[in-house]
Amino acid sequence: MVSGGAGFIGSHLCEALLANGLGVLALDNFITGSGENVKTLKGNPDFEFRQADVNQGVFLDGDVRYVLHFASPASPPQYDANPIHTLKVGTVGTMNMLGLAKAKGATFLLASTSEVYGDPLVHPQPESYWGNVNPIGPRGCYDEAKRAAEAFAMAYKRAHGVDTRIIRIFNTHGPRMQVSDGRAVPNFMAQAIRGEPITVYGDGSQTRSLCYVSDLVRGVILNLERGDELPVNLGNPHEVTVLELAETIVRLAGSKSKIEHRELPVDDPKQRQPDITRARKLLGWDPEVPLEEGLKRTLDYFRSVV
Ligand code: NAD
Ligand code: UDP
Repeated sequence: MVSGGAGFIGSHLCEALLANGLGVLALDNFITGSGENVKTLKGNPDFEFRQADVNQGVFLDGDVRYVLHFASPASPPQYDANPIHTLKVGTVGTMNMLGLAKAKGATFLLASTSEVYGDPLVHPQPESYWGNVNPIGPRGCYDEAKRAAEAFAMAYKRAHGVDTRIIRIFNTHGPRMQVSDGRAVPNFMAQAIRGEPITVYGDGSQTRSLCYVSDLVRGVILNLERGDELPVNLGNPHEVTVLELAETIVRLAGSKSKIEHRELPVDDPKQRQPDITRARKLLGWDPEVPLEEGLKRTLDYFRSVV
């Protein structure tokens, strides 16, 4: 069972689980996802989709082996537009998914985030770092919901012995991100393709480390098989400034777009790079798709939808 299965990462995950021979039930309320993302899976007899809000409780017949909780708005403008829903899906939604896993004796996996580190004062970020989060800023609804979600997972492990996993996903991109998603990669790609100005927030010196979606999904499945209850960072340690990212996308797109600087959002993290030592040791996982190769693949997708 994959919550958020019609989202960007969720839909790739459903595909990969089906390819591994599992039957998949995807649940989604379409708050940020789209039926288009799972259109090609709907003819597969091992795939079922149900429109459902996991904050309302989910009761299923039959056996469930894995509960993968990916439902949540993930883009800063989208969680800023839906702050209460974001808090609910991280807290109530996570509790409901853990309750389902407990009832079915299933393994539960939480899609947590590098945002639990907030604007990090330790660089790169290892899982042992507790973070630097502003609970009352505009990102608080997302960051604190995910921090509470991690606490819920640990509580169900300790109190009920549920087999739990926590992955902390760093910036991931790929086909099926919504054009209107609002994150840097979709914005820059759509702007470059349309020949519009590339909107770099602030001076663009803040950094991110971008992972291609196929690498991420491979790590998720390895963590289901080989992981334990403690968090694992999944991301590509190749770190770039946002300005470098914008310039790379313009070059790869062969675009004439010019960079225009806009106001930096409140609490925008200044630096972000995963320390993936633990994922390497525990899972034998390393990202394989280089930054430019991944960006080219994502760009091919955006060319087909913009
Ligand atoms: P996305 O917005 O494409 O996918 C999220 C999906 O969850 C959407 O389809 C949405 O409709 C669905 N959803 C939201 N609330 C729901 C609810 N109450 N009930 C049912 N469905 C609901 O975003 P994404 O980038 O694919 O992110 C997926 C997950 O990965 C999220 O939990 C996000 O926090 C996490 N994550 C993503 C990234 C990234 O870089 N993409 C980084 C860190 C963490
Ligand atoms: N960003 C930008 N222009 C945009 C969108 C985002 O400069 O049009 C910046 C944003 O301020 C942040 C970085 O790109 O510093 C990554 O933003 P994104 O929304 O992709 O994810 P975040 O890592 O902030 O959650």
